[in-house]
Amino acid sequence: MTRLLLHACCAPCSLEPVRLLTDEGFEPTICWTNPNIQPADEHDRRLAELRRWCAAEGIPLIEAAEDTARWEATVAPIGALRREMRCRACYALRLAEACRVAVDEGFTHIATTLAVSPYQLFDTCNDVLERLARAHGLIPVVRDFRPWYPEATRRSRELGMYRQNYCGCRFSAAEAALDRARLRDERRAQHQRGDT
Ligand code: SF4
Repeated sequence: MTRLLLHACCAPCSLEPVRLLTDEGFEPTICWTNPNIQPADEHDRRLAELRRWCAAEGIPLIEAAEDTARWEATVAPIGALRREMRCRACYALRLAEACRVAVDEGFTHIATTLAVSPYQLFDTCNDVLERLARAHGLIPVVRDFRPWYPEATRRSRELGMYRQNYCGCRFSAAEAALDRARLRDERRAQHQRGDT
């Protein structure tokens, strides 16, 4: 088995990557470092769920440093309108810390659960992971976990896990609320037209 440090954004998104990477012959240790998650209650709730699941499954969990002041200084000012740039900076802050931990703890391989969600910027995320991993002398394990997102949703519901409905930062909370409102309006309009 090859030891691999798996940066995790939350417990539900960890389910399928851990299963698939283990099937491939990796031995994942989870690394939590997500200073992007707001508000603090939400951050703590996601971390608590991850702690519970890791303990139940016997998966090692490293809780790394989280520089929220740096997130506010370097990511937040990019703002709501430049999402690709904002998320790139956000991924970089988190994955740089995960890479630092990987090197300190003697890992050779690194991956992230961010590649599970179809709502993430897949190419941007993997580009950041590859660049940072190589800069730290690590091997990036890049996989497209998105086809397993429905299975992750099913399993996390079955396990009664806490499931959030936005990525993490205040911008994403507003974006997700707008998306839900738009979908609700579309459904209402379809219903009024008699489409459903
Ligand atoms: S949407 Fe997600 S990845 Fe992008 S800046 Fe916000 S928390 Fe970070």
